[in-house]
Amino acid sequence: MNYRKFSLLRTGPCRYACPDLRHSGRHGPRHGGIISSMTAAGVVSSLSGGLRAPVALWRHHPVADQSVDGLVDATLAFQQRFPADIVKITPASSFQLRDLGQTDAWTGDRLGRRDFGPALVSAPEDWMKVIECSPSESHLSLHFQAARRLRSQIPRETPLVQTIFDPMFQACTLARGVWEDHIHTVPHLVRAALDVLTDRTVRMIETFRDIGVDGVFLAVQHGTRPEYGALGLGRALACVRAAGPDAVNLVHLHGAGHPEWFATSFAGSILHTSFEDNPAVLDEAARHPDLWLAGGLAPSLLAQSTAAEVFAATKAIRSCMANRRFLLGAGCVIWPETPAANIDAFLGAAREG
Ligand SMILES: [Zn+2]
Repeated sequence: MNYRKFSLLRTGPCRYACPDLRHSGRHGPRHGGIISSMTAAGVVSSLSGGLRAPVALWRHHPVADQSVDGLVDATLAFQQRFPADIVKITPASSFQLRDLGQTDAWTGDRLGRRDFGPALVSAPEDWMKVIECSPSESHLSLHFQAARRLRSQIPRETPLVQTIFDPMFQACTLARGVWEDHIHTVPHLVRAALDVLTDRTVRMIETFRDIGVDGVFLAVQHGTRPEYGALGLGRALACVRAAGPDAVNLVHLHGAGHPEWFATSFAGSILHTSFEDNPAVLDEAARHPDLWLAGGLAPSLLAQSTAAEVFAATKAIRSCMANRRFLLGAGCVIWPETPAANIDAFLGAAREG
């Protein structure tokens, strides 16, 4: 069944409901509720027995994301206007690469993303620039400042998570255009660079943790590539572990067509993805109701539907997920042009008893 059709028209049974939990009362307490502790378990299993759904949603803050003040103010303003149960810090996707020499620019992207400049790696020997780099971390330090200020201004009981792009995203970005060639012709250099990027990312996450950030939002953008299992997954898991045992971690599968094994690969984290784009993952997740799942309406629908449609669709998704561990959001970053009335309708449907 087409998820969009279901969610908007509310026809037929939900393919994503857990089949094991359709017999209510036989499998323990319902999950879902507002956040009561700093642990991921607390996020999804506390309090109200499904009367409310915990919510996390976010958007890019183009231009504002280029300064500490801008990013802090934009994040706080969005949270104040649209209060969520988890606050995500959403920097530009270049923020881990700028100190390595990667350039980028704002060119008016619809989702608020920045475009990358020329790739740092083109010839095989260019990987040595990554392997031997000792970055000053001057740009990164701005993001530590932003996290520190946000932590001081957001109530301690509200988890604050830092967006982190996984090592394979970083390496693929640095080697745009030659990645596929290099993983076959110089795999030892690619692996060595990935290891360096992973070590640096782990140190970065440990610093965010020391600042008081409660976990990471790990963006996985190359999960459908055939080499992800060999080159990406283990290093992504190292990043998640670096956030600490009690962290509230989200792992975001960006894009469509991820294989079903992703459903169980990040157990202990909250797996976030677009439902309609990843049916195999959702079907597998339905067989594991104790795993944490997050997502919701596609950002395009959130932006382009009427408020009434958003409300109905959000209620339908809540109903679908009522008997599993679930955090309500959008399938990916919401569009900056999304009408405020639609986000209000989303929040209203999430919090209506
Ligand atoms: Zn995404």
